[in-house]
Amino acid sequence: MKDATTRTVRSLCLALTATLGLAGHARADAFPQRPITMVVPFAAGGPTDVIARIVAEHMSRSLGQQVVIENVTGAGGTTGITRASQAAPDGYTVMMGHMGTHGAAPALFKGLRYDPAKSFDPIGLAAGTPIVIVARKDFAAPDLKAFIAAVKSGGTSINQAHAGVGSVSHSTGILFDAKTGAKPTLVVYRGTGPALNDLMAGQVDFMTDQIVNVAPQITGGTIKAYAIATPERSTVLPDVPTTKEAGLDDYEVSAWNAVFAPKGLPKEVGAKLEAALGKALEDETTRKRILDLGGTVPGSGERGPAALQRLVESEVARWTPVLRAAADGTP
Ligand code: ASP
Repeated sequence: MKDATTRTVRSLCLALTATLGLAGHARADAFPQRPITMVVPFAAGGPTDVIARIVAEHMSRSLGQQVVIENVTGAGGTTGITRASQAAPDGYTVMMGHMGTHGAAPALFKGLRYDPAKSFDPIGLAAGTPIVIVARKDFAAPDLKAFIAAVKSGGTSINQAHAGVGSVSHSTGILFDAKTGAKPTLVVYRGTGPALNDLMAGQVDFMTDQIVNVAPQITGGTIKAYAIATPERSTVLPDVPTTKEAGLDDYEVSAWNAVFAPKGLPKEVGAKLEAALGKALEDETTRKRILDLGGTVPGSGERGPAALQRLVESEVARWTPVLRAAADGTP
């Protein structure tokens, strides 16, 4: 009798496990059944927001559910990424990270509550975004050398905008300051969208930012570009010299934006998100929108989860010593 009961309980347990397993599988197969939130850890209108909205639009179409952008700002993007990393790993919350949140931040935040290499399931790289040194349009210096001299001699009367400690504009900005010996006053924003508005209005003097945020304003003449920090010029800004051409050797930096999910995503769900991002980046209109802003579109071999995981690990390793030295003692 005892044996029979044990057998019955055991087979009930097995049946239940199988049912739950199938249900989980069915749920993953049916994904997505409701809108997906993509957390953008910076203000609307900035580069991370722009790239997120461009890819989310196409992903919404191919997934058959809206990918809704939620801007969760603060602390150089780490507030939004921390919050998104703690969401349920069911595919309904993803985030648009970047070289700052998933590369530079560990160097500059002692108490960072996520590990860029361990707290996420990487979905894929969305865009490469070269860094441009931009200033208010009436900044008098005619070229980069004169600009550096003016920023150095101006000391703290020069205002440099950035999007918070650990952001791309902050990390590439303090690198620029360390390389040139400049000691400007740093002015913090919740993203370089609002920083750009102030730069256009002449409220701040300069910043180093991702090309997709600044290319239209450079072309339109509402701000000035001194150099692009890549080995080659950009085809969308053919008149802007590279840092090397302009006399600033050893300041080459290109940022990137990428989609991540909280760790623990069901495999099928991750594969669907990866495929949707891939489709977006293969779509001619979507590609053109990124390329027209000066961004680069990663090829299929360099954008998947494995490639992104490698990129994150190498970026953290690369930026940590450089930024700690530039920051001259971390906060
Ligand atoms: N590009 C910004 C940064 O400096 C953030 C933003 O996307 O607004 O990290």
